Amino acid sequence: MNRRDFLQKSTAVGVAGATLSFAYQEPVQQPRPMQPMPQGRIPYRGPNVILIRFGGGVRRRETIDDPERTYCPFIYHELYRRQGGVLFPNMEIESLEGIQTSHGQGTLYILTGKYDRYEDITGRFLSDRFEAKVPTLFEYFRRKYDVPAHQALIVNGEDRINEEFYTFSNHHVYGIRYRSTVLSLYRFKTYLLRKDIADGRYEGRELEQKRRELEMMENRDYRVENRQLVALPEVDEFWRKWREFYGRTGFVNPRGDRLLTTLSLWAIRELRPKLMMINYQDPDYVHWGPRQFYHRAISIIDEGVREIYNATQADEAYRNNTVFVVVPDCGRDSNRAMPVPYQHHFNTRSAHQIFGLIAGPRRFVPNERLAVDRVQQQIYVAKSIGEIMDFPTPHAANRSLLAAT
Ligand SMILES: [Zn+2]
Repeated sequence: MNRRDFLQKSTAVGVAGATLSFAYQEPVQQPRPMQPMPQGRIPYRGPNVILIRFGGGVRRRETIDDPERTYCPFIYHELYRRQGGVLFPNMEIESLEGIQTSHGQGTLYILTGKYDRYEDITGRFLSDRFEAKVPTLFEYFRRKYDVPAHQALIVNGEDRINEEFYTFSNHHVYGIRYRSTVLSLYRFKTYLLRKDIADGRYEGRELEQKRRELEMMENRDYRVENRQLVALPEVDEFWRKWREFYGRTGFVNPRGDRLLTTLSLWAIRELRPKLMMINYQDPDYVHWGPRQFYHRAISIIDEGVREIYNATQADEAYRNNTVFVVVPDCGRDSNRAMPVPYQHHFNTRSAHQIFGLIAGPRRFVPNERLAVDRVQQQIYVAKSIGEIMDFPTPHAANRSLLAAT
């Protein structure tokens, strides 16, 4: 994406987010009828997995290339070096036709374990509404195990509405029944509006308008047939407490990637997730120019991972029972002709070059302090998590990172 596109897109999303009104209505299509949950799902007793999307595109140079000059010292020195992590410094997004090095695509490569060509389903310029055609990790997980939706979480930023929709694929055997649940300010605002309407805060014309607004917000994912099933009592309770603490404005709580950390810490305490993906994104602000945004954003994510790690260590059920997986959605350019060489991620060699890290107790991650130099693919992350949590990932690339250790 070039700078102008980025600005346009950011502005559009920013305005929409601030006013809770949307300039367009999502296309309404008929979802497939839901099949009942199959019998025989078993309770989950394996380790928890926290998947850190080191997002907004980060390349190796500022993260794992040089231990002395890394902007993520916790991830590099603690998680990898001291806590028994395995580092995959030569992970890449394969160069194939139609495969893009960008955020939505990379996130779906991680979630599905498959490189795929994604086209926006809405047909609108830069709306980046992609749908996974093969199941996501969360669907595999919840199809095998009897884990409620509020314990399979995706924590999202406030200005990437398109990413609200990666919670399930359109695969006929999997899909919405096994979806994950999103925590984000967008979901909080939806909760507030739904609650306000129910509590009689509005009347007359205003009530009508608010009802339409809510319908639009809830229907942005037209694939969801039964809204009752999407509003989970556990998540409503989560937002009720959040509002009690932070109020309703959205200006008191932390913002940006710090917000994602806070949401994740709250989630661990209140919802007890088994599988949680955190979609960090702020290093991407370097599209705007200032290079220190990028360095600083990497450090803020690193600090967030430290806080989340500490929270798991202070919690009986998570301590010695949690595996961290860290992987960027994509890399960034190394274009010396640009004033900021890593401003964008235009499918260049360096934008394909990422890394992976798996760290956790030895019984789940056998080799420690090991760097596996062989080239690994980003899509191997899916099967690796499947192995750690013991569920099959039949539509994902059939290679696990742990097999290489
Ligand atoms: Zn970007």
